[in-house]
Amino acid sequence: MSEKILRSIVCPGCSCLCDDIDIRVSGGSVLQINNVCSWGIGRFVGGKKFAQKKERKRPEGHYISDKKERIAVSVDEACAKAAHIIEKSKRIFIYGLCQCGNRAQARIYEMGKRLNATFIPSEGPLLTLFLKQSVQNGFSLCTLEEVRNRADVVVFWGANPIHSCPRLVSRYAIFARGRFTERGEEDRKAFIVDLQPTELTKLCNEVILKDGNDLALLKAIRKLLKGEKPDNYGTVKPRHARKLAEALNEGLYIAFFCGRGPFYGEEGETFLRELIELVKFLNREKNCVLLPLATDFNTVGFYHVILRNADVDFLKNSVMHDVRSWEPRTGDVIIGLGSDFVWFLSDEQKRAMKEKEVRIVSISSYETLTHVNSSVALSCAMAGIEVEDLCFRLDSIPVKLSAIMEPVFPADWEILEKLDALL
Ligand code: SF4
Repeated sequence: MSEKILRSIVCPGCSCLCDDIDIRVSGGSVLQINNVCSWGIGRFVGGKKFAQKKERKRPEGHYISDKKERIAVSVDEACAKAAHIIEKSKRIFIYGLCQCGNRAQARIYEMGKRLNATFIPSEGPLLTLFLKQSVQNGFSLCTLEEVRNRADVVVFWGANPIHSCPRLVSRYAIFARGRFTERGEEDRKAFIVDLQPTELTKLCNEVILKDGNDLALLKAIRKLLKGEKPDNYGTVKPRHARKLAEALNEGLYIAFFCGRGPFYGEEGETFLRELIELVKFLNREKNCVLLPLATDFNTVGFYHVILRNADVDFLKNSVMHDVRSWEPRTGDVIIGLGSDFVWFLSDEQKRAMKEKEVRIVSISSYETLTHVNSSVALSCAMAGIEVEDLCFRLDSIPVKLSAIMEPVFPADWEILEKLDALL
């Protein structure tokens, strides 16, 4: 079997979408991968995200299940059954949307809107708030290359890139050498604001550990930057807050990366507004940018579909912020696209789902808990490994995904096209 070397392939492992991956393939096997992190290896060779030596199981077909058995069927039979379930339902929820290509996202957006479905993006707790705020208040974004070339202060707020975008720190944010940051980490100050020490703690120049009061810390920093004396530092040691404020004051180009952490409490929206105010304040005299640190490889793509359609009301009316707010009812159907919906539910929600006989239609490349427990399991090819597609990096840059292996199943967007035609 002849070997092929593919250069500068994009990795669909996380929203960093590294585009410098070189791969040696032969037939259906990957023989060698260069420049990839361990998550990315898992993606290319079918291993689990956090334990790459363990195989991540792929489905062997399309299935229809009832209480007794799971029967393998053709893709057309599975789509017909899925359409029947969706038509009979009283409420439709679409979950996931962040681990698939942009073609599937655009297709399911159209279909779901027509069916009056509620969308629950798996990274909604982070990105929905960001998009709402960008529409209402606006804030400065930049590309990751600009962070590499220019950022002399980087702040990770409630974000641990080692657990969301592993190569972010080496390619762009801390160690990378850029045009105006030629000495890499020596030309940058990096801060982490988090509940407890993380892997990143060892890599940052300064560490601020806090106990859940992000808002008080933000307000204290604003006061320090204005030359005033804060009366409340929340649960942070004042000298830590002062060090961060000093660095923000001295920096010429500041990049904030914000993760989901601060949004779990009730004050998430207020926190983000305050953070945006801080970014705007700093922008009066220097450059300051704010980037949401999305994990799933095409989280940002779904929000681009909304923006492309200039559909701001959609966020208010049709998007559920967090799957934990869903109260299962009889007649509900969940269409899971690319994410393991059941895994994210509380025990109470799982119990209620059983009692109310909620049906699941799953479209997935992996044999997940959701796929196995669905009424209809439609198995699809992997975007960026088996089929080409478009997706968006965490800084909104569009990136083309390649196909490096032969697919066994159709692409997710092809399945959605079939399903849509029946509804
Ligand atoms: S950081 Fe993300 S995109 Fe880059 S190689 Fe690792 S998993 Fe792939």
